[in-house]
Amino acid sequence: MEKWLSLDKRIETVKENCKIIREDIEKAACESGRSAADVRFMAVTKTVEPVLINAALEEGIDLIGENRVQEYLGKAPELHLEGVEKHLIGHLQKNKVRQIVGKVDMIESVDSVALAAEIAKRSALAGITTPVLLEVNIGSEASKFGFPADRLEEALAAIAEMESIEVRGLMCIPPMSEKKEENRQFFSQMHQLYIDFSSKIFNNINMNVLSMGMSADYREAILEGSTLVRVGSALFGERIYR
Ligand SMILES: *Cc1c(COP(=O)(O)O)cnc(C)c1O
Repeated sequence: MEKWLSLDKRIETVKENCKIIREDIEKAACESGRSAADVRFMAVTKTVEPVLINAALEEGIDLIGENRVQEYLGKAPELHLEGVEKHLIGHLQKNKVRQIVGKVDMIESVDSVALAAEIAKRSALAGITTPVLLEVNIGSEASKFGFPADRLEEALAAIAEMESIEVRGLMCIPPMSEKKEENRQFFSQMHQLYIDFSSKIFNNINMNVLSMGMSADYREAILEGSTLVRVGSALFGERIYR
């Protein structure tokens, strides 16, 4: 969103975007044979000023996603977070786990067994269980984090042995693509993995979240079975990185 617009105008735009995205989600959910209640709408708040995040929360957004531990912890005191679920969605370094465990409701970006072990250890020390998603590198890109699809089973088997961590589903960021239709094949592969692994019995693994779809492709993701879409720029405008 243009920085020079007045704050009132920017707040109004966020609220309008929120309504438009909700309608889109509802339409796509219906098209996929589900209802709007089956697809959660996450507001991705990285780089976004607290005043605009609060505008979205006023519209009834009840789930936010942040990428960086430091940025989230810095902004959180200014956010109206009563009744709002918070997820960490960015790559998490093992040395930051201690700071974030207990501060968010879910870590969606578990991309190694070692990271899961650290989350389990810190959660046990804090006396809690942390729900997580496993990030899948569905496009097999060298530049992306996440488990290759063919390593997921062994990762799940290893994490199933850990206490104080619970795998609740899968997450992916598919390759950047010009044609959003192209990502449907990745979303469809993710959905198949999700179905396959939900039906297998592991300890501590109780999958009911398939987190996929961002601003450019959330409709396609929903059509392929997403249960949680992570929307940033379509809601708040283009990000300004400082
Ligand atoms: C930034 C980000 C998003 C949102 O991206 P938009 O294209 O702005 O909607 C979603 N998921 C993750 C993991 C992100 O880092």
